[in-house]
Amino acid sequence: MKYLFGPVPSRRYGRSLGVDLSLFKTCTLNCCFCQLGDTKETTLTRTAQPPIEDVLSELRQWLLRGEPLDYITASGSGEPTLHIHFGDLFRFVRAETPFRSLLLSNGSLFTLPEVRREAALADVVKLSLNAWDQASFEKIVRPHASLRFDAILESYCAFRHEYHGRLDLEVFIVPGMNDAPEQVDRIAELAQRFRPDDISLNTAVRPTADPSLRACSSEQMAQLALRFQTPAHDSGPQNTIIPVNMTSEERAALALRHPLKS
Ligand code: SF4
Repeated sequence: MKYLFGPVPSRRYGRSLGVDLSLFKTCTLNCCFCQLGDTKETTLTRTAQPPIEDVLSELRQWLLRGEPLDYITASGSGEPTLHIHFGDLFRFVRAETPFRSLLLSNGSLFTLPEVRREAALADVVKLSLNAWDQASFEKIVRPHASLRFDAILESYCAFRHEYHGRLDLEVFIVPGMNDAPEQVDRIAELAQRFRPDDISLNTAVRPTADPSLRACSSEQMAQLALRFQTPAHDSGPQNTIIPVNMTSEERAALALRHPLKS
């Protein structure tokens, strides 16, 4: 399969089939904790690649297998909202399958009303918030130079008003960058502004773009989770449970993408 990966059994979303809408590592950010390595050049240019018809045609073929699923997830090897037609995936899921749809996004393009409009077609949207101001944003996720933290936060609040589905949040905890209690309190306070339905904390349990990063201990993660008003939880050492019967090729294909959040 060229555009699909999984299905991945995830704690939060059950059996999720990933759909990769990105050319490899095409992203608006270059997060220090990215599991896909460095973004060579961050971009804000939205494109129609790969062709959405090809992606949907592969998905149609896969669905003929009749395998059980819970979610079809826009994720993959970059930022899915950089694809101009990413909303077509959710239209397809709604019109032609009995499954639910999920968007995993870094949220940086939610400042664009057209991105929020298309994202609102997904049954569940999971956004990221790892920083509390422009300086911490630049340090942790190394964004495209035009991206402004405050504008992205405002766009999350706008989306909360416009969207009637489930809005989840992921906070990636990086020791030495955003794991101090007062830093997590600031993130928690900002999260309250758009009231996510669920918050999961994640940490570097796999090799990251910055090889010097280490993971937070599960004890510290559990303590930090208590600082959020919406019940937050550590997404666990294995956000995605890799099925034991996966071939080495399937595992390698999974590792090349970005499905490992739940
Ligand atoms: S972690 Fe996600 S948002 Fe960050 S650089 Fe990697 S693909 Fe982009």
